Amino acid sequence: MSNHLMNTYARQPVTFSKGEGVWLWDTQGEKYLDALAGVAVNGLGHAHPALVKAISEQAAKLIHVSNIYNIAEQSALADKLCEISGMDKVFFCNSGCESNEAAIKLARLYGHNKGIESPEIIVMDKSFHGRTMATLSATGNRKVQAGFEPLVSGFVRVPYDDVEAVKQVASRKNNVVAILVEPVQGEGGINIPKDASGYLEALREICDANGWLLMLDEVQTGIGRTGTWFAFQHTKIKPDVMSLAKGLGSGVPIGACVAHGLAADVFTYGKHGSTFGGNPLATAAGLATLNIIEQEKLRENAEKIGDLIRASLALALKDCKEVVAVRNAGLMIGVELNRPCAELVKMALAEKLLINVTAEKVVRLLPPLVMNELEAQELVLRLSSLIKTFLSQSN
Ligand SMILES: *Cc1c(COP(=O)(O)O)cnc(C)c1O
Repeated sequence: MSNHLMNTYARQPVTFSKGEGVWLWDTQGEKYLDALAGVAVNGLGHAHPALVKAISEQAAKLIHVSNIYNIAEQSALADKLCEISGMDKVFFCNSGCESNEAAIKLARLYGHNKGIESPEIIVMDKSFHGRTMATLSATGNRKVQAGFEPLVSGFVRVPYDDVEAVKQVASRKNNVVAILVEPVQGEGGINIPKDASGYLEALREICDANGWLLMLDEVQTGIGRTGTWFAFQHTKIKPDVMSLAKGLGSGVPIGACVAHGLAADVFTYGKHGSTFGGNPLATAAGLATLNIIEQEKLRENAEKIGDLIRASLALALKDCKEVVAVRNAGLMIGVELNRPCAELVKMALAEKLLINVTAEKVVRLLPPLVMNELEAQELVLRLSSLIKTFLSQSN
C-alpha cells in the first residue's frame, strides 16, 4: 500500500480486483463472501449487469454538466424518489454527510424564516451523521469529535429511544427547530428502538405540536435495506426531511436531501448548491439502482433474508452466554457480544468472510440486498463458527 495515503483508516491487508453478486476476489484469486457491501453501498452486489450497462451507456453519452442547466437524469431520479417516498422535493449532493449538511442548513433556515435567531436541532446519543464539521458535531460519539473543537453549536443531545427526554427539551426551550434521528442506528451498533414505529410516531407528534421538522437520517437504512424503500415506511408517519446516500448509487457517489410539505420550499435560489451533485452519471446510477430493486423484488428479499440470517444466527449461537443479542431490521444485522470483538474482522478475513465490528462489541452485517438463501446459510455457518472460536479463545 502506498505511503502517500493519509493514515485515516485501519485497513485490512487485502486488495480486491473483481466482484460478482455477493462474492469478491482478491489479487491472489482468493474468493470472499461479502457481508458488508462496502458498508451498505453495494445493495445490488458487485458488477450487476443491468447497473453496469446503465452506467456504461451514460458515461458514453454524458458524465457531467453543471447544475446551471437542466439535467434530464436528475429530474427523472427526483421524480422517482418522490414517487416511492411520497415526499415532494429533492436536493442532490454526493455523500451522506452532505445530505445531512443540507438537512441541517434547511432546518436552520426554516428557523430563521420563523424569526428564531439561534435555532437548535435535537440529536441523539450514539448517533452517526458524518465527518464534516456540522455533522460530526451532530454525531453522538466523542471519538468522532475529539480534536476538532470548537464544534459547531446549535445541537441539543438526548438519549436515543427516549421520548420523555425530547418532551423535556420541548418544555424548556423555545428555539428548537428540528429533530435529526436515525430510524435504526447503524454505526452506533444496530440499535433498534424498543417500539421502532411507536418511537418515530411519538417524535412526529412532538414535532407537529411544536412546529419542528422531523428529519430522518436514512443514509444507512434507506434504499431497501430494512425491507421497505425507507425505514419510515414501517410506520404510519412521514418525515419532513430525509437524508439518503450509501445504497442510492450502488457505489457511484450520490446523496440526496428529500423534503416534504413546508420543508420542501425552504431552500430558495442561492441558498445551497453543489458542483457535482446530481450529475448525469450519478443520477443514472441511482435511477438504475431503484429500477433494479423494484424489478428483482429486492426489498422483499432483504426482509426475508435478513430475518433468516437473524433466526439462524440466534439458533447457532443459542448456547453462547457471551452473545448478548442478535437483532435485525431487514439486512441491517447486529450480533452484540459482552466484550470488545474488533479482532473478529481479521479472523473473518482469514476465513474469506467480510464483516464489520462497530460500537466495539457489535458484529455488524450489511449484506447486498441480492443475497440468496444458500449464500445466507453459508454466511451463518462461517460467522457462527468464528464467533464460537473467538469466544473460546478470549475466555
Ligand atoms: C455512513 C453514514 C453517514 C455518512 O455518510 P458519508 O457518505 O460517509 O458522508 C451519515 N449518516 C449515517 C446514518 C450513515 O450510516
